[in-house]
Amino acid sequence: MYAVVGCTECGSYWLLDDPETQASATCLTCGRRHQTKKLRRFYTAESRAAAVEARAALLAQKRDQTEQFEAVPDAGQLQRQVAEGTRIDDDEYLDQSGVDPEEAAEAGDVSRERSPSRDEIVRNAVRESSDGGGTADRETILDYATDRGVPRDAAADLLDRLRRRGEATETNGEYRLL
Ligand SMILES: [Zn+2]
Repeated sequence: MYAVVGCTECGSYWLLDDPETQASATCLTCGRRHQTKKLRRFYTAESRAAAVEARAALLAQKRDQTEQFEAVPDAGQLQRQVAEGTRIDDDEYLDQSGVDPEEAAEAGDVSRERSPSRDEIVRNAVRESSDGGGTADRETILDYATDRGVPRDAAADLLDRLRRRGEATETNGEYRLL
């Protein structure tokens, strides 16, 4: 029998092969040792494929990605793949379900910093390159953006788009955010 269990310490889910006979189980994520009988079993199944699917569903739920999960192969398909001898490990399964295994491992971790988009960099360029009059010239803005890894063409294009959308104005080559 297989069981999907949850760690009370870090909240991750993993698969136990034989929950009836194992006295203890170690969380694969945080390394905490648990008494098997005290672990909460979210799902039990005779088939490994079904347990793997249940675990992926729990992970997907945790990441609020149930929609993505619903688009993946169902249990029947998975069992056929198993019967055909196609080996499916957890990571492959998660790949198929559109869940990045590395991200799944970090599920719940929202502390990672997101780097600014090109659009944000160009906006910052206009804002931060402004002189006393609150305007910045095109070259200064493009230099600022290229210094931060935006190709010059892309930066120029984004700057023009800001102007066309009415989010920035241009007078005599000087730009200002509205
Ligand atoms: Zn843990």
